[in-house]
Amino acid sequence: MSITGTVKVRCPGCNRSHDAALIQSINAQTEPALVDRLLAGELNVLACECGRRTRLEATVLFHDPERDYFCQACPGGEAAMTAGARAFATIAASTATRRLVPSLNALVEKVLILRADLVDSVVEVLKVILLASRGDDIDRVLLFSAIDREAGHLVWALPDQQRTLASALDGYTKLAATDPPKPGADELQIDRVWAIEAARKLTESGS
Ligand SMILES: [Zn+2]
Repeated sequence: MSITGTVKVRCPGCNRSHDAALIQSINAQTEPALVDRLLAGELNVLACECGRRTRLEATVLFHDPERDYFCQACPGGEAAMTAGARAFATIAASTATRRLVPSLNALVEKVLILRADLVDSVVEVLKVILLASRGDDIDRVLLFSAIDREAGHLVWALPDQQRTLASALDGYTKLAATDPPKPGADELQIDRVWAIEAARKLTESGS
């Protein structure tokens, strides 16, 4: 069941008023078409007659019952994230995997990681290691985009440079085998901040 609402919005391009439909909940099992829309960047987008496309910022809850996985995208800053964390207490058992992300783009990445059968905490630590090994800024945005098991590599996007880069799948496999720090049941934000701390622990235990 997708919780769908309608909001009155004005196009920022031409100021026309629209009644826009909002999808705020996606069940990956029963609504695969909504997942496709999310991945295509077509979810909650206002497409105006003037040609302007505007992303509608709304909380979206993604649920994959098969994997007992929930991820909430809560755009709107710290207040939205706090509300999202509170909502988790009522929508998901603490035995489920629960993730909180600040944007729909971050939700897309989480879903891609899930579909690739990768573990997001390992992916986040791998990003820190990859950036460090490239001599890059470890705060640089690097997004997982695809896995090619046959070619044996992972594909990443560097949105600020509008390009992609590949890394050996082996790097992920080896890192996963070292049993890197795992998020606790109440750690909802598995992101760069979390990964830098986890990578630090990993280096300390390895030395
Ligand atoms: Zn318009």
